[in-house]
Amino acid sequence: MNLSNCPQCGKVYVKNSYNLCPNCLREIEDQYRKCVDYLRKNRSCNLHELSDGTGVPIRMITRFIREGRIATKDAPNVLTPCESCGELIKEGTLCANCKSQLAKDFSHMQEDEKRKAERQNALDFGNTYMKDRDKFDKR
Ligand SMILES: [Zn+2]
Ligand SMILES: [Zn+2]
Repeated sequence: MNLSNCPQCGKVYVKNSYNLCPNCLREIEDQYRKCVDYLRKNRSCNLHELSDGTGVPIRMITRFIREGRIATKDAPNVLTPCESCGELIKEGTLCANCKSQLAKDFSHMQEDEKRKAERQNALDFGNTYMKDRDKFDKR
């Protein structure tokens, strides 16, 4: 049996794929059901109204949305904060700005890698050439 401490309440439990003890798991299921119920009745509520109305922490609701358990089409006004700048967005973890910034950073990184590789190739070529020249000189 694989025992572990529940990251939520600290109790020892038999490890499962959710990484939570059955008690906490049940609590999260309750919170999830509350959100779904609330959204069914108040489809146009926003994140704060949903949290106030259900007593479920915003962080938890954000998690449900990120995990895709609450579909954004069922909660059109429930926006989650961008992980980078905190701007409220409809889906995903980053806003359009941060996403394009990230893409830019990434292509820069790739360019750097390419340049580094080219420099290394030139170096390797130089070394091979020197070695070969030795050989040629001896001949
Ligand atoms: Zn627990
Ligand atoms: Zn952002």
